[in-house]
Amino acid sequence: MAIISSNIGDNEFSLGKKELRLVDSKIISEEKKSKNNLNFSRPDTFKEFIGQDQLKSSLRISIDAAIYRKEPLEHTLLYGQPGLGKTTLAFLIANEMNTKCRIASAPAIERPRDIVGLLLGLKEGEVLFIDEIHRLNRLTEELLYSAMEDFRLDLTMGAHRGARCRTINLPRFTLIGATTKLASISSPLRDRFGISQKIEFYTYEELNQIIVNFSRLINLNLDNEASYNLAKISRGTPRIALRLLRRVRDYAQVVKKTNVISVNLIKKALNSYQIDEKGLDSLDRQYLSFLNRNYNIPTGLDSIAAGLGDDSSMLEFVVEPYLIQIGFLTRTPRGRLLTALGKKYIDSKDDNF
Ligand code: ADP
Repeated sequence: MAIISSNIGDNEFSLGKKELRLVDSKIISEEKKSKNNLNFSRPDTFKEFIGQDQLKSSLRISIDAAIYRKEPLEHTLLYGQPGLGKTTLAFLIANEMNTKCRIASAPAIERPRDIVGLLLGLKEGEVLFIDEIHRLNRLTEELLYSAMEDFRLDLTMGAHRGARCRTINLPRFTLIGATTKLASISSPLRDRFGISQKIEFYTYEELNQIIVNFSRLINLNLDNEASYNLAKISRGTPRIALRLLRRVRDYAQVVKKTNVISVNLIKKALNSYQIDEKGLDSLDRQYLSFLNRNYNIPTGLDSIAAGLGDDSSMLEFVVEPYLIQIGFLTRTPRGRLLTALGKKYIDSKDDNF
């Protein structure tokens, strides 16, 4: 599958064995499946894509309807936390539509000519996937309006009195936008997506299935209890499940010289990476300790980020959702608060971990 990748971002499983060549300062890569790489694990069909049943069945109907009418799928917006499968779904949609998926990340589309180049490079029916679409700049976004609605680019060439308008027709394509921040997308852009779907966190059973499938692919022998244990600390997120699985695999192969994974081995492996029995790592614990210092006083996200020297949106989208989910943290209009449960946990860890 050919990909244009301006900046794939935090996607440690995204690129497989690849041939790279530079075209217009963008990287075009041919992705091939390789047994040596977990990218091999990216599902190829909706059937292999675990969970998200409601989303899959409504996408299935839209895809079949588009195929029946011999049209591209309507522009689609996918929103949800990082690592839940937005990029994977974009590939799957392209596969199902029997076309190519070209990938770009909004922060890398800096100048109008970047988006013009991407759009002009599309062929009839292809999918253009733009990750972090809420971060498009205004000029780029405005160019997209007519491209999405009428498959047309309205460009102004030259300046002042010599300025001329030129319209370029584009092939019909599908834009798939992905975002973690639905509210940050302007309504004119949001309104141009015919399909808008939320990707939810996964259940333990679904994560367990993803772990079992991937461990088979990479020849790891996980017993049931071990895979379920890993699923329970994966924060409802396949990317985290796979990342933990890879760390466990490293530990098992290098330290224990085995491919057989038991619950006990998982505990030892995760302990060596400072991940505890709840799946919390050192950053989570630093976050909780910081709030514990001012227990019962709501603290703003920016103060926490400054105190920890970390990026506030990383804390908001990666660290906090799970802490909220397990009842350690609440968000109030006045700031973040550690719960009694969170306090009990961090008090027990501060000395012991
Ligand atoms: P996002 O784009 O939302 O950040 P990705 O699509 O990159 O997430 O998914 C992260 C990893 O998790 C990928 O390796 C992908 O193969 C895997 N993954 C995500 N969702 C699923 C799923 N439902 N079934 C199987 N694997 C999944």
